[in-house]
Parts: sequence; C-alpha cells; structure tokens
Amino acid sequence: MIPFNKPYLTGKEIEYLQEAVANGKLSGNGVFTQKCHQFFTSNYNFQKCLLTTSCTDALEMSALLLDIKPGDEVIVPSYTFVSTALAFVRQGAKIVFADSKSDHPNIDETQIESLITKKTKAIVVVHYAGMACEMDEILKIASKYGLVVVEDAAQAIDSFYKGKPLGGIGQLASFSFHETKNVISGEGGMLVINDPKFEFRSEILWEKGTNRAEFFRGQVNKYGWVDTGSSFLPSELTAAFLYAQLEYLRDIQDKRITIWRRYQESFQELAESGKITLPVIPDYATNNAHMFYLLCEDIDQRDEFINHLRSKDILAVFHYQSLHSSPFYNSKHDGRNLPNCDHFNDCLVRLPLYYELSYDQQSAVIDAVHTFYQK
Ligand SMILES: *Cc1c(COP(=O)(O)O)cnc(C)c1O
Repeated sequence: MIPFNKPYLTGKEIEYLQEAVANGKLSGNGVFTQKCHQFFTSNYNFQKCLLTTSCTDALEMSALLLDIKPGDEVIVPSYTFVSTALAFVRQGAKIVFADSKSDHPNIDETQIESLITKKTKAIVVVHYAGMACEMDEILKIASKYGLVVVEDAAQAIDSFYKGKPLGGIGQLASFSFHETKNVISGEGGMLVINDPKFEFRSEILWEKGTNRAEFFRGQVNKYGWVDTGSSFLPSELTAAFLYAQLEYLRDIQDKRITIWRRYQESFQELAESGKITLPVIPDYATNNAHMFYLLCEDIDQRDEFINHLRSKDILAVFHYQSLHSSPFYNSKHDGRNLPNCDHFNDCLVRLPLYYELSYDQQSAVIDAVHTFYQK
C-alpha cells in the first residue's frame, strides 16, 4: 500500500529528546524552545515567535490578542481546515466566509472589500498548499479599513510572497507542525507576532495569563495572574523533536519539491488534453511542495478516481468540506453561494507526497493516474 502521508524522521530526534531529558527541564520555554524560536527569527526575520501545542492554539491566541468578542466579524476563506474559523468562533465571532479564486483555492482578494462591515475586526488568510495569497492587495484593503491581517501559514513553512517569507507579512501568523505538514513534531505549532504592539501580551497569554516570562528575565521580582490566557506552550520534548526537523529543513524541502515537480511534469499532457486541471503557482508565490493536488471534472469522477487508485493500493484523499456548508456552521452562514469554494470541495484530490516516497512508488502513482484517464 502506498500511504497518503508518512511522517519523516531525520534521525536526530531521539538524540535531542535524550538531550532534553538530560537537561532536566522538561516543561516549556527551555533551551530547545529558544533554539526553535531563533531558527525562525534568524532565517525568516520574524519579529517574535512562540511555539504552541498546535496551529489551532496559535490561532486561538490570535483571537485573544485581537480581543475578539461576540458580535465581531472575521473574514475567513470557506475552503480551509476547521481551525481557521473555529479559533475565532470560540471567542464569539461571526464568521463571514469568503470564496476562493476561480483558479486557486486561496481567498479571492477581489471579493474581500464587499464583505467588510463596521463590525469586521480581522481578515484571516490561508496560504493553501503553501502558496501565497495576493498579500499586497489584502494588506491594502486591511489598512484602508483598519483591520488586522492574520496569516494561517499552517502549510506555508519556507514559502514566499514576492520574496517575503509567509508568516512574516500579517500582524499575526500561525504555523503547524502536525505530522501531516512538511516539518513535524507530532502535534505542534507556532504563533508569529510581527506587530510589536502584540508582543508583550502574547507572552502572558502563552503562560496561563501570568507574567512568568518577565519574571524569568528579571524584569519583575514576582510573578502572578495578570490577564487571560491558557497553557499554550509545548514541552521541551516537543521542541527538541521539532529542532531535529528544522535542522534538516533544506533537505526536506528539496526532496518534496523534486517529487512535486515530477508529478507536475508527468501530468502535463493530461492537463493539456483538458482531462484534469493542475495546480497553478501565482507569479508572486513560491511552492514549498506541501501538497500535490489535481482537479477532476466533478465529484463523481473524483470518487471513481480515488477508488481506482485504491484498487491499485494507492491512497489519495480529498478535502476540505466547505466550512460555510458544514453541519456546524451551515445554519449560521448568511446564505451566500461560494461557487469556487464548492468547486474545490467537489473536484480536488491530493496524491501521496512524503519524503520517503520512492521513485518507483511515485511511478506507480503516476501510472495509475494515466490508466484511469485512458479508460
Ligand atoms: C493543519 C492545518 C491547521 C491545523 O493545524 P494543527 O497544528 O493541527 O492545529 C490549520 N489550518 C490549516 C490551513 C492547516 O492546514
């Protein structure tokens, strides 16, 4: 069986876990946590980073930092993972769902302005498949209306918009290190704070509403409960594991990009004959090979396609169920149709893509796709 995903280990994980254990400090914000923060601040020039136990947690911290309250509106693409919306819904926000672009699952920046009301607080964008949204346009709209831009960069490690690293563009951004992402720690995430006005409070929310971080820097002589928050920080074990991955980031990315490009080249003719649609990389975006997807003609063809691959022992998967028509939000949505989003919801399928996918295994996937479309 060729699985859809297989978590990759660089080989350093156990060594760093042992080191973390030997350090005798297992709770959060220790040596490995600092090393991970530094990796991102020095390689991508992010202002401030805080590891979290998930990207969902980082998004929840964003909602807290923005003081989202019942009645506030937040603009979110409908074609995304649940957490992008859920983190704001938990604070009582009304989600105003935006459609995707016609040729890309990313949020259609040309429709955002029409969704803004007096109650809008933030625009949350998702860099789908690690490919950048049209950030200049989005920042322009946000500054015109005084809105905060939050990047859900869960899939977007080491990817760029016009040369700027994703996660470093909005006032806040979140990454995921879930085992399905390029760089992993089992579960894990990170909040990036690019606007200095959120820096101070972010540390407090991170450590259960206390000013513990200030205390340990010697800035105050006792620490206590000063704000809301939660236990958002991961243990040193998670950070040690993550650091072992980050050290091999270049190698991981190169390998994934090689696999991605071979898929793209192998399906060029199928796409030219109009049988499938291949991903487009906008000219302002880079590709970090987080996933390889293609678009079938309709939902029935996609089901047949996935079944065909399964009959050849290959696991391909589809996602996302448009959030505006999800069982949880359907009745709360304002009723607008989001046709592009529905199109990706029906037609998109992801092929196996992971570090250890061998050349021969990939050949088997490519052959299976071709035999399906020869029928
Ligand atoms: C994976 C993912 C998340 C959730 O990440 P967790 O670390 O599992 O919380 C959120 N948004 C997007 C776009 C994702 O792909």
